[in-house]
Amino acid sequence: MSETVRTRFAPSPTGFMHIGNLRTGLYAYLFAKKNGGKFILRIEDTDQERKVDGAVEMVYRTLETAGITYDEGPDKDGGYGPYVQTERMSLYKKYAEELVRRGGAYYCFCDKERLESLKDENGVHTYDKHCRYLSEEEVATRLAAGEPYVIRQKVPEGVVSEYEDMVFGKISVDSADIEDGVLLKSDGLPTYNFANVVDDHLMGITHVIRGTEYLSSTPKYNLIYDAFGWQRPKYMHLPPIMKDATRKLSKRYGDANFEDFIKKGYLPEAVVNYIALLGWCPKDNREKMTMQEMTEAFDTDGISKSASIFDEQKMRWLNGEYLKAMSADEFYTVALPFIDEAIGDAPYNKREIASLMQTRVDILSEIPQKLAFLGEFGEYDLNMYTHQKMKVDLSVAKRAVEVAISALKDFDDWTDDAVKERIRLAAEEAGMKAGQVMFAMRVALTGAPVTPGGAIEMATTLGKKESLRRLAFSLELISAKA
Ligand code: GLU
Repeated sequence: MSETVRTRFAPSPTGFMHIGNLRTGLYAYLFAKKNGGKFILRIEDTDQERKVDGAVEMVYRTLETAGITYDEGPDKDGGYGPYVQTERMSLYKKYAEELVRRGGAYYCFCDKERLESLKDENGVHTYDKHCRYLSEEEVATRLAAGEPYVIRQKVPEGVVSEYEDMVFGKISVDSADIEDGVLLKSDGLPTYNFANVVDDHLMGITHVIRGTEYLSSTPKYNLIYDAFGWQRPKYMHLPPIMKDATRKLSKRYGDANFEDFIKKGYLPEAVVNYIALLGWCPKDNREKMTMQEMTEAFDTDGISKSASIFDEQKMRWLNGEYLKAMSADEFYTVALPFIDEAIGDAPYNKREIASLMQTRVDILSEIPQKLAFLGEFGEYDLNMYTHQKMKVDLSVAKRAVEVAISALKDFDDWTDDAVKERIRLAAEEAGMKAGQVMFAMRVALTGAPVTPGGAIEMATTLGKKESLRRLAFSLELISAKA
């Protein structure tokens, strides 16, 4: 194959981008890059009624955040523009008229009432090809008289339209089952059915990669390519992503919005990695991959024919793997906004907190809740001190907290290792188990049943002053009861 591979992503700006849409873009990108080709962004905005303000900007933002870089697009001219459908209006009309001349389409003057009358009991109408048989003279007269018209596809009769899909194999549709559908509407705007063909052809698209909802319409589009005498592209249709066994992800229901995940503290590269695996598996079954690694490994054989289910737990896990693999500095940078959210400008060592959090969260938005112990500290349930297995009760806890206080009050080497050793020795001297002291100390420092780390980490995170303040408070609380 000597021609340069050209793929495109053609989102409609009708809302946010759910991860199913983004996956389509990602695969088109990976396929182009794998084959040394070009990846093109086209904005399909002809459906002005469904257009949502800000949605085009969201497409740019999302692709940029996701690291899916296009070679050509509305703001990157590659000589095949314009890349926004509403800027291509004059082209569609011109090509629709040319298709009429070539015998692949015809003018239709049927009005609403007539079309209504063709509806069956389910309210569906199939056009009866009435205008297909008008004489040329009649068409010319009616056009000259300014009658409103649409242009319809003249589907050849008695043929089977077939193609080989790269994922689904041979797809064929009998032309008897294809309606003479509208290509150009009475307002001069194209339908998707027409625009996708004209655009893909004029933009030199070699491989059309999109969702399975277009799998069975593609034979119809191919008949348009044939009627123009254009070369058909190759096709790769992608199975849907489901939110459960029966329902597809849908932006209409607010499902799985890429930008929401990023706001929740997912890393874009982890989300992109995860969605790549929804419907594709590399030969060596690897899971964690950079964009570069995915590009190298991407192959059509690994694409599944069946739908995949979006599993946020799995994506969380993968995100956690990304967080753990970061350097301390990288993690600090991404975690800082979430740490700030939790502690504001309270005088804690944020780097210390970040290192405590790095192995303990799967997504960054878990941080504030895990740091709740740094905030309010007051009365708490003393039953937390009872631990039968460790043989701790309230009186043992009282001794343990006393041991901790006396061990730490004049101690200044406030690092994990040093504090730990200090407590271990103090416990030994007091004839207690280190585990008992640390258990009671953790509760005394936090007043919480679950904490993001043990006694030592809590102490170093809180700092010396706050730790001693809390231990003293807890000792009073226990003493009142014990
Ligand atoms: N604008 C269409 C959509 O968002 C794109 C279909 C295609 O890729 O041809 O579904």
